[in-house]
Amino acid sequence: MLSAIFKAVFGTKSQRDVKRMLPLVAKINAIELELQKLSDDEIKAKTPEFKERLARGETLDDIMCEAFAVVKNTCRRLVGTEFEVCGQPMKWDMIPFDVQLMGGIALHRGNIAEMATGEGKTLVATLPLYLNALTGKNCQLVTVNDYLARRDSSWMGQIYTFLGLTVGCLQNMQPPDVRREQYACDITYGTNSEFGFDYLRDMGMASDKEELVQRDHYYAIIDEIDSILIDEARTPLIISGPVPMSDSQFEELQPKVASLYSSQNLLCSRLAREAKAVLEDENASPEAVDAAMIKLLQVKFGMPTHKQLLRILENGEIVRELEKVESRVRSDNNRGLLQEVQSELFFTIDEKTNEADLTARGRDAIAPGSPEDFIMPDLLEEIHRIDTDENLSPEQRTARRNQFQEEFSVKSERLHDLSQLLKAYCLFEKDVNYVVQDRKVMIVDEHTGRLMPGRRFSDGLHQALEAKERVPIEQETQTMATITIQNYFRLYKKLAGMTGTAETEAAEFHQIYKLDVIVIPTNKPCIRKDDNDSIFKTKREKFNAIVNDVEERHKLGQPVLLGTISVEDSEILSRMLKMRGIPHNVLNAKNHEHEAEIVARAGTPGSVTVATNMAGRGTDIKLAPGVAELGGLHVIGSSRHDSRRIDRQLRGRCSRQGDPGSSKFYVSLEDNLMRLFGSDRIVKIFDRFGLEEGDELQHPWLNKSIETAQRRVEQQHFSIRKRTLDFDDVMNKQREIIYQLRHDALVSDKPMDVLFGVVELAVGNEIQSCSAYGERRKDGVVFDAERLVAYLNDAFPLEFKVSDLTEGLEDGKLTSADKLTIQIVDRVEKAYVDSHADLPEEQLTYLVRHTVLEAIDRLWQEHLYAMDQLRSSMSLRVYAQKDPLVEYKHEAFGIFKSMMDQIYRDVAHNLFRVTITRLSSFDELLASMPQEMIHQTFEQFDGALPPGLPQMPEEEPEPEIPVTFHRETPKVGRNDPCPCGSGKKYKNCCGKHN
Ligand code: ADP
Ligand code: MG
Repeated sequence: MLSAIFKAVFGTKSQRDVKRMLPLVAKINAIELELQKLSDDEIKAKTPEFKERLARGETLDDIMCEAFAVVKNTCRRLVGTEFEVCGQPMKWDMIPFDVQLMGGIALHRGNIAEMATGEGKTLVATLPLYLNALTGKNCQLVTVNDYLARRDSSWMGQIYTFLGLTVGCLQNMQPPDVRREQYACDITYGTNSEFGFDYLRDMGMASDKEELVQRDHYYAIIDEIDSILIDEARTPLIISGPVPMSDSQFEELQPKVASLYSSQNLLCSRLAREAKAVLEDENASPEAVDAAMIKLLQVKFGMPTHKQLLRILENGEIVRELEKVESRVRSDNNRGLLQEVQSELFFTIDEKTNEADLTARGRDAIAPGSPEDFIMPDLLEEIHRIDTDENLSPEQRTARRNQFQEEFSVKSERLHDLSQLLKAYCLFEKDVNYVVQDRKVMIVDEHTGRLMPGRRFSDGLHQALEAKERVPIEQETQTMATITIQNYFRLYKKLAGMTGTAETEAAEFHQIYKLDVIVIPTNKPCIRKDDNDSIFKTKREKFNAIVNDVEERHKLGQPVLLGTISVEDSEILSRMLKMRGIPHNVLNAKNHEHEAEIVARAGTPGSVTVATNMAGRGTDIKLAPGVAELGGLHVIGSSRHDSRRIDRQLRGRCSRQGDPGSSKFYVSLEDNLMRLFGSDRIVKIFDRFGLEEGDELQHPWLNKSIETAQRRVEQQHFSIRKRTLDFDDVMNKQREIIYQLRHDALVSDKPMDVLFGVVELAVGNEIQSCSAYGERRKDGVVFDAERLVAYLNDAFPLEFKVSDLTEGLEDGKLTSADKLTIQIVDRVEKAYVDSHADLPEEQLTYLVRHTVLEAIDRLWQEHLYAMDQLRSSMSLRVYAQKDPLVEYKHEAFGIFKSMMDQIYRDVAHNLFRVTITRLSSFDELLASMPQEMIHQTFEQFDGALPPGLPQMPEEEPEPEIPVTFHRETPKVGRNDPCPCGSGKKYKNCCGKHN
């Protein structure tokens, strides 16, 4: 109420913002008037002049008006110029209107400019892009599809090239060197996925400085920002690749496991039957009952989901009894008993630990004559045996060792595959846990019962199921890099956006991106006529009414745009129109370029265009001569979309630039929106008034009621996006740290400092643990120097002795971990440099960089996998009434910390072990793996939250992740001021360990 009065007196915030821009607009126009007197060359000379003034300390804001005037004046000079855009001849005919200048100001200031369709946003963006590109940094414009990137970059390129700036355009599948050229331009157009995937490749996968393509995340303008940050942001960008695995042996093992399974099944059925007979016999002796319980236990070990067993266990008394027997059998001093119980089985399955193991009997059955094929040898023991074999020459030893390791990995793969197959047979039931469709194994969500297409069980289990069902076995893939759209765009120093429809989502833009929406008035007043919605009982009646509406208008020659929310609806309506003999075009947002052409013609007399709501977005519909007199373009919505924004978007396609036009939505009670979110009141009205077949309801009050339903869906979708983001924030921090370290290793001028910075951390960590584990005396803990020396000699071939450790130790106790660390790392570094003295500079640099990169890549991959697992396990905790996010943060922090420590440790350990050949073969392996870029799109109503999600408690502060690798200036003492400039001591700032 108060705010309404406030608005009436002072205007809305946007109106005030706009008012404040008016003097600037006047100033731009005045300057432009002067510029008209200059020659073309004098205008062109403005670009270097501006750059120079910026270099001399003027700011972008200082020169904004002049720069905008130069762009406006350039447009004026371009009028009449003919050129080609995407193969179509074009003629320049635009000089920015005042409202467009305002839009430009809003964009330069990092806002979202809401400007209706047809207001010329493409042109608006050139103003701030030109201005910001004067900094020499790469400025970017993000489009909704490749076609628009191509169209707009070459269309607006007229301005940029006239003024001496370069413009590039990203396209899907462009090779890296072409992409690099596009980023090298002053201004780059491209879709959000292209920008996002390039970032992931640069930061997470490049193995050479030369491979990087992006240069800045300085300023980006997102066109149709609602579509990109709201609709597309529901799924993250993922680069996935196959899991590097030795050849799996599922196909070969499957028949063997199948027969093993049926033998075990027979055995278990017999055991269960025998046990049941005894348990049902009231006169059975205690010994007989005990024997029967052992049999049940055998079934439980052998086939925990065996039907008969489960039936017997419906009796709670027997369950308790069985638990007692089990713990007796498992207890330590009954070792022999456990083996005896299991020996009759072919294999055992532990549901809790998810492990399946062959017994001796199973090995005999599966590989008669060579049971050792299925027994793991002791790796260390065997290697030790080879290493100490006096009869072998060093070369023979190496050969033997390699051969042994090869056999070992084949064998361990075989056992792993076997175990997964056993689980596939025993724990996973077809049509309960999974279904087979189109020769694919599809997971059934155990809680909702919904199919989860595209999802795969991990760790070979899915392949085992495929082998079991004898359908093609698909290559296992894993996430190699991933980021949400939201977090990608948060990287930018300055972000701006434009769209016809931002206002309904203004709160979200503010909350997540700190972007404010400024509504820019239209150039001419909008005179569109919006009819009330028509509501019908059934879809059939609704569709009939729509086709009648189209037919009527079509007869008069008025063009109609019929928007649908799904391809399916488009097809139904198209069939109905065909039956009535009404010619029309159908667009499904599949072929952007072709559809743009069709949409562009949607304003010609008598044309009927059926389009899903994304089709032809970004292309405006101009009215052909004579159409205005017929009432302009008529827009029909075949349903309300679940978001008001998309409906407004559809309406906005007519009545551009002051044209006449009209719009109307049709709704039925069978529409998803009404079924799932509509109010019962509407249904009641239908009943109360006894409305008949074909009757329709219309009332402004009903429009409101539908909007309420839409608001509910919007809310729900917002919480899904927020949730994705909350989860991704955890990953985001980790990703920043890893990518920063990776980037340093890749591009630092002093790669040696990065490497030994990491080694220092590894040694530091080890010293910490040696001081924690030492002998405890009254006067403190004695430093375990022996342990440290053992570690050092295992890691580095430098023959450290306890007596070498002189710094930071007094009287057997640790006084300065830093001094000790530095003493050790200095010696290691020196030895490293000496031992690589013959290596050419370039190769040494490669080695140094890649020693760090290899450890990061290997462990980060594993970490992503672990994080995936963690995330999927979180959906289960919802049911345990815990907040999954809090749990997730907590556990994610733990595994990240230990991964970082492992990276440090591995780098130190590999320091003297890796060779260039080994590293480059790892590189090649990575590069050779086919990658897939995934950015899924959602159908509406997909991915709704499961009902009854518990209320989320307030977020707890997260533990801080220690960022401790940077060492640009070598060897900062731990008490020195921190090089990051915080003013704190190094050990309390970037040098903090725990
Ligand atoms: P939006 O993206 O805002 O929907 P577009 O950038 O696609 O709009 O422009 C719509 C149409 O308006 C284009 O055909 C363009 O030529 C025209 N237009 C834009 N600005 C001007 C202008 N200042 N003067 C004349 N025509 C303009
Ligand atoms: Mg546009």
